[in-house]
Amino acid sequence: MWHPIQADFPQQRPLPDFERGQQSIQPGEVIGIITCGSGAIRPVNQPQPGWPLWLERDYYHAKDHASLVVIGRWKGLPLLLRQAQRGEAKKADWPGLRSWLLQSDANTFDLLTTAAGLASWNEQHRYCGRCGTKTESRKDEYARECPRCHLRHYPRVSPCIITLVWREDALLLARGPRFAPGVYSTLAGFIETGESAEQALHREVMEEVGVQIGNLRYLGSQSWPFPHSLMLGYWAEYQAGDIQFDGVEIEDARWYPFDQLPELPPATSISRHLINSFLRWKGVKEHSAF
Ligand SMILES: [Zn+2]
Repeated sequence: MWHPIQADFPQQRPLPDFERGQQSIQPGEVIGIITCGSGAIRPVNQPQPGWPLWLERDYYHAKDHASLVVIGRWKGLPLLLRQAQRGEAKKADWPGLRSWLLQSDANTFDLLTTAAGLASWNEQHRYCGRCGTKTESRKDEYARECPRCHLRHYPRVSPCIITLVWREDALLLARGPRFAPGVYSTLAGFIETGESAEQALHREVMEEVGVQIGNLRYLGSQSWPFPHSLMLGYWAEYQAGDIQFDGVEIEDARWYPFDQLPELPPATSISRHLINSFLRWKGVKEHSAF
């Protein structure tokens, strides 16, 4: 029997500081510009007092800023995206998106995730996938449109499942080869075309660790810009099977008793939310290692 749990994950509610989409911006109005591309964000050379390091201050001029994408408003300030040139981020050694997100609160997390999603879409949909004509940015929505065949190209969102597999006395946690040393996390994978989220969940867990699950419970979702995932978070109860993994995609997976958990993903991640909310539900003190 499930008990209600508190919906305390920030991404489950609209965030008050961030208004998405097109805005009318007055000439001369103060604007913020984020320069982003190739999974990195440019730090500002001389940040304004009280302004974050990733935000450049400028005054709006329709002509000068015509090639920028409007992200929305943040605390009332119009925000625009400047697409980084290819190779620019690597050459200048800008911090990767992951390191910016690790320092972010919930509002900033959504904002930077949106900027990164728009940047990768902008870069990858410069030409129409149907007829090859150069696309143009639409002013009324996040979309690029082909002027020849009018096909619209929207920012890509790729649904993934992420799940905490549990049994009465332990959590099933795993690590991939690119994880930080010692960190174990929940299982995740892309939903394939034609598949429901729940079917993907059964398949991914079987493929990754060879166990059968049931009693699925949806907890919430989080946008995750690597590169454009939407993580759908579940708890799943273990039913049968011994842990087996391939050593390639999963390099280790094991059952951890509630009081002997390894190092876990950061507090801003849905993976950590799945784990912490489960421990609270079970009445176990939250794991503090990070
Ligand atoms: Zn076209």
